[in-house]
Amino acid sequence: MSDTLGTISFARLLDICLEDYYTKGKIFEIDEKDFYKGKNDNLGINLFNEYLRTPIGPAAGPHTQLSQGIVSAYLTGARFFELKTVQVIDGKQMQEMIPKPCIDVSNIGFNVEWSTELTVEEAKREYIRSSVLLQVLAKELGLSEIKDFIFNISVGYDLKGITSEKISSFIDDLKEAKDHETFRECIDELTRNLARFKKFKSEDIEKISSNITNSVTVSTMHGVKPEEIWDIGAHLIRNKKLHTFIKLNPTLLGFENVRKILDDLGYTHITIRREDFANDLQFDDAVQIVKDLIRLGKENGVTVGIKLTNTLPVVNSGRVLQGESMYLSGKPLYPIALGVVEKFARALGADIPISFSGGIDKNNILKLLKTGIAPVTFSTILLKPRGYINMKGIIDKIKDENFSLDKLNLQVIQELAEASKTDPNYKNKGERGVEKEDTLPTYDCFKVNCGLCVDVCPTRANMRLYDDRFEAPYQIVHIESRCYECGNCHTFCTRGGFPYLKKVTVFANKDEFNNSKNPGILKLSNKKFRLRDESGKEYLYNNLVNKTDVEQRSIEKILETLLKEYPYLLENNNNS
Ligand code: SF4
Ligand code: SF4
Repeated sequence: MSDTLGTISFARLLDICLEDYYTKGKIFEIDEKDFYKGKNDNLGINLFNEYLRTPIGPAAGPHTQLSQGIVSAYLTGARFFELKTVQVIDGKQMQEMIPKPCIDVSNIGFNVEWSTELTVEEAKREYIRSSVLLQVLAKELGLSEIKDFIFNISVGYDLKGITSEKISSFIDDLKEAKDHETFRECIDELTRNLARFKKFKSEDIEKISSNITNSVTVSTMHGVKPEEIWDIGAHLIRNKKLHTFIKLNPTLLGFENVRKILDDLGYTHITIRREDFANDLQFDDAVQIVKDLIRLGKENGVTVGIKLTNTLPVVNSGRVLQGESMYLSGKPLYPIALGVVEKFARALGADIPISFSGGIDKNNILKLLKTGIAPVTFSTILLKPRGYINMKGIIDKIKDENFSLDKLNLQVIQELAEASKTDPNYKNKGERGVEKEDTLPTYDCFKVNCGLCVDVCPTRANMRLYDDRFEAPYQIVHIESRCYECGNCHTFCTRGGFPYLKKVTVFANKDEFNNSKNPGILKLSNKKFRLRDESGKEYLYNNLVNKTDVEQRSIEKILETLLKEYPYLLENNNNS
């Protein structure tokens, strides 16, 4: 487990993407066969004066905090990225406030996450690097000739914080990054590396957009004062000239309605609190605020809409996560969020732009987009088995369709909302059974292909390492600096174990090595390594000394294969 979440330098991101793609046909464990290559599909829409090739993508959360998540989502078809929320509390302070594990999607979805665990400055740099990298990959991998994605920033949670210098300069630098040192570093790095590309040319460098974002989603959860929502929206519209979506909460459907939907779908065990509904923004006030912000948006030449919905606060069962409250996502949120959509669509009319999040899967995406709602974001489904590849499954359901997204179809929204309340797709399928006994070994943990821990990791901190000197076709290697201890790989480990604690771990620096008990590898120099084997024994290892008369230990074999296949992983390559 890493104390500090590491970000990957742009130079190393290029190494990973180019080396792994051209030598192994994959990037961040996403095989080329799972890349979305539909540049001739008709899914594109214009939003915020930009082109969006597909109207879907990851919601603000674990998949949009770090470059590797953003790249993985782009490769599998995401084009709308709601970036992880930033607020004045950040970095180490935020990490210490979030109890780990912080995600439990064994049945539906619960989390106790909040905003980014990077500092706001690190997040800004990460989003600049990611935007440049996606534009490069689009061209190099033949996915798009033009910039075809949108980064939508998310800010919280009070007026004082959002108008602070820290958040204000975050917004300004992402609106125009051309003078930011991270943007210039990316351009310099691309110029130095031009010879490594096959399709990306020097003229493409000039086309890279430095406008990282022109839109924002305002989160109104986590104690945002209802009376401040107008002021926050007005500030972002008037002073920052951002296209602005207000993300509203499922509590707007009312306690009784939410309770009935949960009960009818078999979620009687989930406890919701009346005070969470009473203390939140009330429906009539929300409608008035949105109407006033739309008027202000028109005066300032920006689009104003609503995002429905945030996650639902519920009483924490204490089964997996810590703390009094946790936030529900996944299947039961779909009928609840759709109920809120119906209410607002009736009150505000068919012209109100609505973006959606809540329980999206391949069964409902097509019907939802047909109502005129877009873009649509999701997170829970990407945390389930297959991980990011579920994005591709969702795209496959819509890729042959055309959507008219100018106006909402109120009649269809009403029908969908009603039908979803009894649809078996959203019924309680039951919690995961009794915790499996932990029988996870460090090596050879499966006989038939598994790899679930690789696919479900939102930050790509587990990888497959192929080495035919072992029994299983590949070994799982863990990358410490990419892990933020969310616990999702444990949830799905078929041996009931903790891959992020048990597997051979690549450490980026001495502190990481010393703060962990994992078996693992720390590079000291080109020939010297510090190793800790599965029994906890630590020793120095020189890989250039001839070892023909000594049987190699398993960890030494892993090191040897890493040096051959992924030498860049052993460098201290994170920015933190
Ligand atoms: S390795 Fe496991 S615990 Fe760490 S970030 Fe990935 S899924 Fe979460
Ligand atoms: S999920 Fe568990 S058993 Fe499966 S590959 Fe990962 S660590 Fe091994």
